Amino acid sequence: MADGAPVTLFDPYAVRVQFPILSRQVNGKPLVYLDNAASAQKPRAVIDALVATMEGGYANVHRGLHTLSNEATEAFEKAREIVARFLNAETPEQVVWTKGGTEAINLVANGLGLSIQPGDEIIISEMEHHSNIVPWHLLRERRGAVLKWIPVLDDGSLDMAAYADLLGPRTRMVAVTHMSNVLGTINPVAEITRLAHAAGAQVLVDGCQGAVHAAPDVQAIGCDFYVLTGHKLFAPTGIGALYGKAEALEALPPYQGGGEMIGVVEKDRVTYAAPPHRFEAGTPPILEAIGLGVALDWLAQYDRAAVQAHEHALYRRAADRLAEQDWLRILGQAEGKGAILTFAVEGAHAHDVAQIMDRYGVAVRAGTHCAEPLAKRMGVTSSTRASFALYNTVEDADAFVDALIKARNFFV
Ligand SMILES: *Cc1c(COP(=O)(O)O)cnc(C)c1O
Repeated sequence: MADGAPVTLFDPYAVRVQFPILSRQVNGKPLVYLDNAASAQKPRAVIDALVATMEGGYANVHRGLHTLSNEATEAFEKAREIVARFLNAETPEQVVWTKGGTEAINLVANGLGLSIQPGDEIIISEMEHHSNIVPWHLLRERRGAVLKWIPVLDDGSLDMAAYADLLGPRTRMVAVTHMSNVLGTINPVAEITRLAHAAGAQVLVDGCQGAVHAAPDVQAIGCDFYVLTGHKLFAPTGIGALYGKAEALEALPPYQGGGEMIGVVEKDRVTYAAPPHRFEAGTPPILEAIGLGVALDWLAQYDRAAVQAHEHALYRRAADRLAEQDWLRILGQAEGKGAILTFAVEGAHAHDVAQIMDRYGVAVRAGTHCAEPLAKRMGVTSSTRASFALYNTVEDADAFVDALIKARNFFV
């Protein structure tokens, strides 16, 4: 190694063998799974933990008084601690379980909505996922909130100068994605937060992608809320988490009513539990939460920087091999972007491209990727997306390029 640089010993093949599904075939070809930004596959550690819990330690949580319930409660609350550590939250009580990223954002929008006055402003960006657009549209429709949009520049980064101009005395909330699920752009969320706070607004960071590919540190970002979803983090579906600053959660009214979230319930009055339980009405997704804890513990064995470097190398390899193809347009070239390669093929619909690639065993996503305003901004009706994870290999990147070139040949 030159100049004593540390050797990066990240081995994707050793990761890969821990994912049973990755050894299957699709259409007679080895599976090349590049739809990780839609959902990631599950390692043996997570699969085994779910089975072990169901076989040996399952009951409802928080109802106490018997051994199985106590064991399940312990595992469930331990998972909350793991998420808190993963996000660098101050305490586990700042982590609220939700059923995914979408529900976490709705929880915040709904609570905030109760105090929204007509003309109050919500700032979002043109690159948001529909999950971080539609809950705010609901506040526009129902409460008279005004939506303001941070423009996306041609390279796929946010127009920060325009953002600074959008902030004003009526801004209540700035809700932006940590990382775009289409462009791969990683946004300067700490700077966005600093400016919002200076204007007296709260900040919600949608970390559904950022939690996977950028290092999420909620204290360093300084945001009021941070959202993640389990199924993109190698955990089961049906589980997500909302981090909130203690005072932000304290000020937020309940979202749903039911068991677990109350203090006392009488005929003419009700009081609510303190966060996080205030926001967790009903029986929570117990197995899924435990699975998320196991997934994050599993992920923690790998050096984040090494994983990011690996994923980026795969992105670079594919993008470089495609650089000379004049029929291809890659969307998003922002400095420091994550390993998401979204593209439009001249003369071909994205769905057709994806379906042909599937014949070669390559799984990619096509469409507007739950981000219609962004598609419009980038001037495409649809696009195809390959998104890399730590278990992808150079062979996957090459198989992707080969299948794409074959797919393109159907249209010339
Ligand atoms: C996937 C995703 C969401 C929605 O998460 P769900 O798990 O579907 O609720 C929100 N924002 C971004 C950026 C995403 O990638």
